[in-house]
Amino acid sequence: MALKQLDTVAQKINLDPNIHTVLKKPERELTVSVPVLMDDGHTEVFTGHRVQYSSVRGPCKGGIRYHPDVTLDEVKALAAWMTWKCAVVNIPYGGAKGGVRCDPFKMSTEEIRRMTRRYTVMIMPIIGGRRDIPAPDVNTGADTMGWIMDTVSMFEGRTVLDIVTGKPIELGGSLGRREATGRGVMISSLQLLKKLGKDPKDTTIAVQGFGNVGSVGADLLSKEGCKIIAVSDVSGAFYNPKGLDILDMLKYVKTSKNHLLEGYKKDGTEQISNEELLFSDVDVLIPAALENQITDKNADKIKAKFIVEGANGPTTPEAEKILEDKGTIVIPDVLANSGGVIVSYFEWVQDIQAFFWDLDQINASLEKIMINSFDGVWSLSQKEKVDMRMAAYMIAVTKVANALRQRGIFP
Ligand code: GLU
Repeated sequence: MALKQLDTVAQKINLDPNIHTVLKKPERELTVSVPVLMDDGHTEVFTGHRVQYSSVRGPCKGGIRYHPDVTLDEVKALAAWMTWKCAVVNIPYGGAKGGVRCDPFKMSTEEIRRMTRRYTVMIMPIIGGRRDIPAPDVNTGADTMGWIMDTVSMFEGRTVLDIVTGKPIELGGSLGRREATGRGVMISSLQLLKKLGKDPKDTTIAVQGFGNVGSVGADLLSKEGCKIIAVSDVSGAFYNPKGLDILDMLKYVKTSKNHLLEGYKKDGTEQISNEELLFSDVDVLIPAALENQITDKNADKIKAKFIVEGANGPTTPEAEKILEDKGTIVIPDVLANSGGVIVSYFEWVQDIQAFFWDLDQINASLEKIMINSFDGVWSLSQKEKVDMRMAAYMIAVTKVANALRQRGIFP
């Protein structure tokens, strides 16, 4: 999928074939074995990866995910997307991604902590504050980043803050980082409505995923007056045509098992299937879970007129064609979910300077970058009569290609 997207844009911008061949491949791929002593005394060996796709525009940057479906190919695609994401919003990073194939829902906190520390040591030869800076992704969060920071710090014999972003606030994390991806999804959704002259108060939304991105996005959009009528997570989906009580759902997942919506009950709210959520009759659909959710098998049944990609890679290129023919506008992942890495950039800058900003400054700077980037992509898509993903890729790939041309091929 990632390669197909690159090929299409390469054709459109007449990309120099010598640059194209370089951009097709990650710079570096590392696969590691991660032995972990489990609580019951047996040893489990997990497989982990870290892929550095590009360092052409700056240090590699990207999250680490813990999921049973993690594969090297998936991590490679996610690392490519990070490269385009950092370029489209113009922050001085290349792209990377990491992952460990495991089921964190079946592991204790201590097992996850030991796995994180061992994985960190295994990828330590290639990460670093000026080389490759990990961050949270699916099923990882501030705690995980704190353990990574501590592990590297123990080896270096000093506190190393800039090794990872998305850390707890007390450990050099940034205010607003946890909410940043969801906030970015809110900003891009509102910007889209503004361009179309639509009032948020007349807008209905369905959100797939109630994790770090979906839950915050749903909360902030409902505070802007949008009606969130359906949300889901891996345990099921919930629907209320009058609008769900997002605050109540947030309260529920604070203490529920694995922070899932399973067992949530509220008058007027019914349970539906994940499929029904995707096909619900709403203005905006926000896929904020995993890749490959909107495919050629279900795209024709999607009623939403606008899709804002909170997740990475939720729409396949085949599905995108079907949506385009229907006139559905898709705000692509590299733009819509870039809020996370933008505030990661702020966190890294604060760590390096040892000077911390207040929340107003962080949110204002995030909004400025997101609105500028959105407007740039929007104008290009209007001018070139291409969809928003193509426009975003044209901007991103051109930026990376220009940087590569200026650096030249070493030696
Ligand atoms: N995992 C997030 C993403 O896919 C954030 C990456 C980062 O902050 O480096 O954009």
